[in-house]
Amino acid sequence: MNASEIRKSFWSFFESKQHQIVSSAPMVVKNDPTLMFTNAGMNQFKDIFLGNSKPFAPRVANSQKCLRVSGKHNDLEEVGRDTYHHTMFEMLGNWSFGDYFKENATNWAWEYLTEILKIDKNILYASVFEGDKDMALDKDMEAFNHWKQHLPEDRIINGNRKDNFWEMGEMGPCGPCSEIHVDLRSEEERKKVPGAQLVNADHPEVIEVWNLVFIQYNRKADGSLEALPAKHVDTGMGFERLCRVIQNKKSNYDTDVFVPIINEIANITNTPYGKKEDTDIAMRVIADHIRTISFSITDGQLPSNNKAGYVIRRILRRAVRYGYTFLGQRQSFMYKLLPALMNSMGDAYPELKKQQELITKVIKEEEESFLRTLATGISMLDKIIQQTKDGNYKVVDGKVAFELYDTYGFPLDLTELILKENDLVINRREFEKEMEAQKNRARSATAIETEDWVLLMEDDVEEFIGYDYLETDLTIVKYRKI
Ligand code: ATP
Ligand code: MG
Ligand code: MG
Ligand code: MG
Repeated sequence: MNASEIRKSFWSFFESKQHQIVSSAPMVVKNDPTLMFTNAGMNQFKDIFLGNSKPFAPRVANSQKCLRVSGKHNDLEEVGRDTYHHTMFEMLGNWSFGDYFKENATNWAWEYLTEILKIDKNILYASVFEGDKDMALDKDMEAFNHWKQHLPEDRIINGNRKDNFWEMGEMGPCGPCSEIHVDLRSEEERKKVPGAQLVNADHPEVIEVWNLVFIQYNRKADGSLEALPAKHVDTGMGFERLCRVIQNKKSNYDTDVFVPIINEIANITNTPYGKKEDTDIAMRVIADHIRTISFSITDGQLPSNNKAGYVIRRILRRAVRYGYTFLGQRQSFMYKLLPALMNSMGDAYPELKKQQELITKVIKEEEESFLRTLATGISMLDKIIQQTKDGNYKVVDGKVAFELYDTYGFPLDLTELILKENDLVINRREFEKEMEAQKNRARSATAIETEDWVLLMEDDVEEFIGYDYLETDLTIVKYRKI
């Protein structure tokens, strides 16, 4: 099955279980002071869970564009180094708003994976909440018993509060979750170490694919839990990971979601993929980031100097930097990946196709401006190197390196690389000290975004009502005051 068939099969499966298929909310969040980007499928339904709005249908399913680069969910540093965390990814989800609960949720997840997609039952694991003394909660026996219908007990794993109890914030709806993990190792490896030991252990081939959250409690202001009158189901499955499982690949980047993009990067940079660790990481980072940047621009968030715009600008610069450092790219090149991106995502997300011209233009301009920054930084660094050598020193002042980084946006890894070529190093302790001081200054500014949600206090909020395509090359993401 190719990616598009997999996505469609999820929708038609849940349609056959009377779910209404809804479209993805924008990845850029404009109506919530606590969240910059959608980081899970449930974000757009949080008012339903909170009881602030009535569900428009009891059962809903979709594929949601998510971004995990800030706040509680920040996977940025993993991206490219591992093969299954992305900045932007699609989350397939099904929801029950006070309708079905654990039995149907577990049975249908099992049916979809093993009967529709025909995943080998012997490589699947389910985790259940093991209970928690501090919360005065017992093990989730209900979920355990449902999984027992499908799995032997030794493949039902107990999970702690961190992995198997979901809360959106300090107050509000919450509940235990059950996750499905897949062991993709060879049979031989599986015999050596049981997969049960590797669940949730960051093993690159024993990966989590689906999280089924059972919202059954409300956490009150005093911290106590009360049972909710209406129980809900909220599930999220990583689409790129699922494609990897179905297509039997070693990495998400080897599926048809990413191959056209990786091939194009290989082509443009004249670098084979799969031959060298550092160039492979660079290529994965670029393949990942081009999606994030393009979808952000489509959803109305251009790179800029503050808030969400700055996050996007930094992601773009990160990709340019990897290209510069590891793939020898001295000219803008990312914008050339747009046709390949359209090949893999354009049909599923027509809003992307409509914006191709604008995205290309913005990315090219951003790249060129950052490359100029890099050129300035390099000439400053040349001077620093000369001075250090003239003084017969081997270590470059950490403050000077920090200034290059902080004021001129010159990346530390590049500074280090160039210094290494000149047999010099940075005084890392001094650098870290400056960095720490800077972080303290910035901390207060980003402190709010630590949870999936915080209750909305403002009444001046806006509701997303759709995309509007103008004849100019700009998409207007439409919001209505509510
Ligand atoms: P992980 O433990 O692998 O970081 P998670 O527990 O943080 O995943 P959830 O919040 O449970 O993830 O999200 C639901 C599903 O979304 C996960 O089971 C996984 O398949 C997928 N997912 C989560 N984060 C990412 C990511 N950064 N890139 C791709 N898929 C992801
Ligand atoms: Mg995670
Ligand atoms: Mg997890
Ligand atoms: Mg999870």
